[in-house]
Parts: sequence; structure tokens; C-alpha cells
Amino acid sequence: MRLLLVAYPGAGKGTQATRLAAHYGVPQLSSGELLRAEVQRGSRIGKAAEDYLGRGDLVPDELVLRVLSSPILEAAKNGGFVLDGFPRTLSQAEAAYTLAQQSDVELQAVVYLRVGHDELLRRLRARAGQEGRSDDDDITIGRRFEVFENQTEPLLDFYDRRGILLEINGEQPVEDVFADITGAVDNLVG
Ligand code: ADP
Repeated sequence: MRLLLVAYPGAGKGTQATRLAAHYGVPQLSSGELLRAEVQRGSRIGKAAEDYLGRGDLVPDELVLRVLSSPILEAAKNGGFVLDGFPRTLSQAEAAYTLAQQSDVELQAVVYLRVGHDELLRRLRARAGQEGRSDDDDITIGRRFEVFENQTEPLLDFYDRRGILLEINGEQPVEDVFADITGAVDNLVG
């Protein structure tokens, strides 16, 4: 199973990715979590990525690819992965596609979790209180929305043209979203 989740911040991408990974018995590879782990470790990549994360801007492709490439290829050899947060731009999708073609491990399904703006804001504000993620303040959230609209939304067309895009209503209870995703994925991937 080689699956990608795409969604606005706050849509529940991480929650669903964790469940889907357990369900399909493959690792969850979250670009945001892997990048935050680099920052915590104080690695060179982490130091280079830190300011972008803090502002809600995208980390440069070169750094993201350095963090993600080997875990993705490794997981692909062992049954697959649930990707959460990468690729997130057209140029990343093209780089990932080239890489994947070489090993014949292209994505099989891309899930777009759709949630309205008011609900997203409500969830992110609640999460800011609970988890204290430094990029969950109002200004940085606004920036992440803008980045998604400008840089990530074009990805949806890219995958739609390849016939692997699944659009799911993310404004339902977690269990129902999960059931809709697995239903649609199993139907597409078979
Ligand atoms: P969210 O989707 O809620 O913004 P993530 O944990 O997926 O949360 O991402 C948090 C931050 O990590 C982003 O704002 C960005 O700075 C960085 N990031 C994650 N994935 C990528 C990526 N594929 N390319 C560039 N930056 C990324």
C-alpha cells in the first residue's frame, strides 16, 4: 500500500495517517514530524529547517528530500507506507515521481481530506491549547493556509489527472472519515 494524505492544516491528516498505517500494516511517514525531530535533535538539517517551520513556510525541497528519500524508499521495499505531508508542492511531486519510477514504487492513491475553513480554525486553536505546537498561533496558521492554497492545491490536479485522487469529507467523526477513506482506497487499489 503506497498512500498519500493531503489536507489543510487541522484537517486531521495526522490522525488518519496513524490509523491507516496501523490498518494496512505499513509505517506512517510524516514530513512535519520528521522535520520537527531533526530540529529537536539539533542536527544540521534541523538547524537549517527551523526558521521555515517557525514561520509556517515550506522547508526548501532539497532539505525535505534529504530527510524523506531514504525512509520512503526503504518502506516501499517492505510493503509500502502512508505518507503524510510529502509531496506538498508540484516540484516535490515531480521529484518524488522520478525517484519512484526508478524503483517502480509510484503512489497508488492520494486522499484529499476536505474540511471548511471555520472548522479548521476551530480545531487548530483547540490543538494549540493542548499540544503547544509552536506553529499553531493565529498568524502562523494564516500563513500555512496561504501556503497550502498557493503551493499544495495545484498538486490535487496533478494526481487527479493520473486517476488516483480520492476526495473525502473530513467533517465527520474520526471513525466515519476512516471508514470512507479505507472504502475508497480499497475500491481504487483493489
Ligand atoms: P500542517 O499540515 O498542519 O501544517 P505538518 O506537520 O504537515 O503540519 O507541517 C508542518 C510544517 O513542516 C510546515 O508548515 C512546513 O514548514 C514543514 N513541512 C512539512 N512537510 C513539508 C514538505 N513536504 N515540504 C516543505 N516543508 C514541509
